[in-house]
Amino acid sequence: MTLSQLPSDFYGMESQLTAEEQDALARLRAVMEPMRAIVDEHWHRDEFPMDVIAPIAATGVLGHSWEETQTFPGSAVYRGWAALEMARVDASLSTFVGVQNGLAAGSIGACGSPEQRAEWLPRLASAEVLGAFGLTEPLSGSDAARGLRTTARREGDEWVLDGAKRWIGNATFADIVIIWAKDVADGQVKGFIVPTTSPGLTRTKIERKIALRMVQNADIVLEGVRVPESLRLQRAESFRDTARVLRLTRAEVAWAAVGVMAGAYEAAVRYTGEREQFGQPIAGHQLVQDLLAKSLGAITACIALCVQVSRMQDEDRQDDAHSALAKAYTTARMREVVAWCREVCGGNGIVTDHDVARFFADAEALYSYEGTFQMNQLIVGRAITGRAAFA
Ligand code: FAD
Repeated sequence: MTLSQLPSDFYGMESQLTAEEQDALARLRAVMEPMRAIVDEHWHRDEFPMDVIAPIAATGVLGHSWEETQTFPGSAVYRGWAALEMARVDASLSTFVGVQNGLAAGSIGACGSPEQRAEWLPRLASAEVLGAFGLTEPLSGSDAARGLRTTARREGDEWVLDGAKRWIGNATFADIVIIWAKDVADGQVKGFIVPTTSPGLTRTKIERKIALRMVQNADIVLEGVRVPESLRLQRAESFRDTARVLRLTRAEVAWAAVGVMAGAYEAAVRYTGEREQFGQPIAGHQLVQDLLAKSLGAITACIALCVQVSRMQDEDRQDDAHSALAKAYTTARMREVVAWCREVCGGNGIVTDHDVARFFADAEALYSYEGTFQMNQLIVGRAITGRAAFA
C-alpha cells in the first residue's frame, strides 16, 4: 500500500520512515479514515464506539511497542506517526489507544516481570483484555507522587488496596486497571494489575465533559480490594518507575497534539475552499491565508520536534525533560492552531458539523492530561536550572 503525503506534512517528513513503516502507516490510515463518519455522532452521545476496537487492534497498534506483540520492529518515530494519524481522525480514538497501549500495556511492558509481560501484553494487543491506568486521585493530580493517598497493605500473599482514583480513561469498560498505590510499609508507590470485577472496586462514569466526550472516564473507589502478589508489577519499586511509563506516553501525546492540529487544519482548508464571501472562496482572502500559513508553520515545526524526541527514544537518550518539553510545547501550539482553524470557519466553527469545533474542544483535554502544561514546563525548568520548583 502506498502512503500518500498528508497535506499537513508540508515537508514530507513521513518519507523518512522505512518502507515497512510507511506500509503499516498507510494500512492504519485506511482503517482510520472511514471512522470519521461515526465520531461526531458518538461525541454528541457521549459514547465510545466499541465496534472500532477490533479493526484498530487488527492494525497492530495496540501492541506495536513491545517485542512480544509487535508485528514488525518499528521505530518510536513510526509509533509517533501512528499516534498523529489516529488523532488526525479523532482525538478520542487516539486517546483510547494511548490508554490501552501506552498507559496500561506500557505499565506492564516497562514494570512487569517477564511472566507478567508474557501473560498480559498479547491479550492487551489483541484487545481480548481492555486496560486502564489509575494514577490520578480526587485530591491529587499534578501532585501525583507526593499526594498519592491510595494505600496498599501486604497480608501474606495478598495486597489490600484502599483509596479512590479520578479521571481514569476507558475505565467504565476496562477489564483491568493498573492501580498505583503507596505501600504502607515502605511509603513507596507500587503498581498493581487489578481486575475491574474485584470485590470492593466500583466505577462511576464522569458525565458532562466538554472535551474528549467519547472517552469514557471514571471515578474509581477501592474498598479493601484484594490483589494477589502475582498481580503486583514486579519491577515497579517507586514513583520513578511510574514516571518511566509517563515519559514514553508524554512523547506520544505530543504526536497526538500534532494530529489534532493536522485534523483541524485539513478541515479548515477544505472549508475555506467551499465558503464564499465577497464573491470568492474565503481561501482567496489574504488574512485567511495568513491564519492557514501560521497553522501550517506550527504543525511543521512540531512534527520536526516530535521526530527528534522519538529518535532520542530509539537511541535510548530521551529523558523526562525531553518528553515534557515536547508535550508542553506541542499542546500549547495545538491550542493556538485549533483556535485559528475555528476562526477561519466563522460561526460554523462553533458547531461540530465541519469537524473543527470537535478538535477545538478536544484540544483542551490533551493540554491538561498526562501532566498539565505548567507541570511539564516545571520538569523542563528543573532540567535547565537544576532546581525543582515543585517537589
Ligand atoms: P491539578 O493538579 O489540580 O491542577 C490544577 C491547575 O493547577 C493546573 O493548571 C496545574 O497546572 C496547576 N498547578 C498545580 N500545581 C502547580 C505548581 N506546582 N505550579 C504551577 N501550577 C500548578 N489520570 C489517570 O491517572 N489516568 C487516566 O487515564 C487519565 N485520563 C484523563 C483523561 C482526561 C480527559 C482528563 C481531563 C484527565 C485524565 N487524567 C488521567 C488525569 C490528568 O492526568 C490530570 O487531570 C492532570 O494530571 C492534572 O491534574 P488535576 O486535574 O488534578 O489538576
